[in-house]
Amino acid sequence: MSRLAVLSVASEIYPLVKTGGLADVAGALPAALEPLGIAMRNLVPGYPAVLNALGKRVKAHALGTLFGGEARLLEGKAAGLDLLVLDAPHLFDRPGNPYLGPDGRDWPDNALRFAALAQAAVAVGQGRVPGFEPAVLHAHDWQAGLVPAYLHYAGRKLPKTVITVHNLAFQGRFPRTLLATIDLPDRAFTVDGVEYHGDIGYLKAGLLFADRITTVSPTYAAEICTPEGGMGLDGLLRTRSADLSGILNGIDDTIWDPAADAAIAAPFDVANLAPRSANKAALQRRFGLSLDPDAPLFGLVSRLSWQKGIDLLLDALPALLAEGAQLAVLGSGDAALERALAGAQAHHPGQVACHIGYDEALSHLMQAGADALLVPSRFEPCGLTQLYALRYGCMPVVSRVGGLADTVIDANPAALAARSATGVQFLPLTGPALALAIRRTVALYRDRETWRALQANGMGSDFSWRAPARDYARLYRELAA
Ligand code: ADP
Repeated sequence: MSRLAVLSVASEIYPLVKTGGLADVAGALPAALEPLGIAMRNLVPGYPAVLNALGKRVKAHALGTLFGGEARLLEGKAAGLDLLVLDAPHLFDRPGNPYLGPDGRDWPDNALRFAALAQAAVAVGQGRVPGFEPAVLHAHDWQAGLVPAYLHYAGRKLPKTVITVHNLAFQGRFPRTLLATIDLPDRAFTVDGVEYHGDIGYLKAGLLFADRITTVSPTYAAEICTPEGGMGLDGLLRTRSADLSGILNGIDDTIWDPAADAAIAAPFDVANLAPRSANKAALQRRFGLSLDPDAPLFGLVSRLSWQKGIDLLLDALPALLAEGAQLAVLGSGDAALERALAGAQAHHPGQVACHIGYDEALSHLMQAGADALLVPSRFEPCGLTQLYALRYGCMPVVSRVGGLADTVIDANPAALAARSATGVQFLPLTGPALALAIRRTVALYRDRETWRALQANGMGSDFSWRAPARDYARLYRELAA
């Protein structure tokens, strides 16, 4: 099998810079693709954290002046990643969040910063880095959306391009007055070009001009083609449906391994589930819940936002309490939701408890100690917490949307008989439907034998990067052929 060179273009990459799932994907894919003959290099902006990790042993390639300052490409390695770093201090040498200034608002020059990233990608595609000729440019999200557009307006058919949508809610819209500034021709500003409702749309441009489009689950790929899920881009996506596919994200099964997880109270595996009870007790103690081994314990690990359906859980809470179940919440976000959850804790001491904040270690104990994990999202491109839950023998209770629909198999009678069920799904997206799912979960929990079988099915599922990496490799090879 010949080796194929691919350039990934992303605005964040784990473990160097992370604000969300995009970083996890960008950081995990290269190593998963390596054994499949894909030589992936990663173009990322030269934020301080990236430049510091790169160290001194780098090769530099001048790019000339880019939007008011000198820019170079630095070639080097960090955290096991083969990096090409866009070193442009006037654009990227800023502390903190990659997109937001200290005032919490978008950097005012984000249009230029990510136009520069796309121009650097095109330069690499045209052979600016000696010895590296990528057959495919893989652009992630709006920050890399202009890559296919620049190639198009330069009249180039190579390299081939893929764009991946990690969350359609983030689209990169900027005023039309910037068109010439970002080096796009006047003729680009049409509905068949980069125009998006009177603005320049970076994601729109990528979706229009990329050779292929992927998103992070098959169901989300279908949902974004509908008016309900398309966030204004469904019409365009429908015209491109032949080139659109969903590839599920994987999880790092060395970091999320219940048999070797330093963050939990007692390790366990599918052949030895008994230590789960020690984790449950530790979780109950940590949250100040009653130390009752028989009360079904529901966990929630989430951003607290409308997307995540936290208000549905508040609606369904009386049903959960009536079943004698417990609820432990780890999350932060919307202030009104934080207040409502704190209020529930105050009214139901010992039965409802919240930890407001972000705590990576505690999120592991939640998966190891809770009996079930609630994920009542209104939309979910892929979702990771339900995958961790499956691996940890924690029953996912999920809305049947996006990646949740694709990764959890509902414990209906047919799936139970076929021994394929791994969790509980619900629709419609309402409090009563979630309440019913919670009651179904408690009934399953009381049937110990069935519950064990469900846990075993989930723990036996493979959600590593192996299968997704094969899908990406196949896509690149098809494009390069
Ligand atoms: P999203 O990216 O939309 O927030 P995902 O399910 O794809 O949702 O990923 C969320 C990630 O963040 C998971 O790894 C989850 O464990 C983690 N997470 C969310 N909230 C918290 C929290 N309060 N503390 C620790 N980890 C959290």
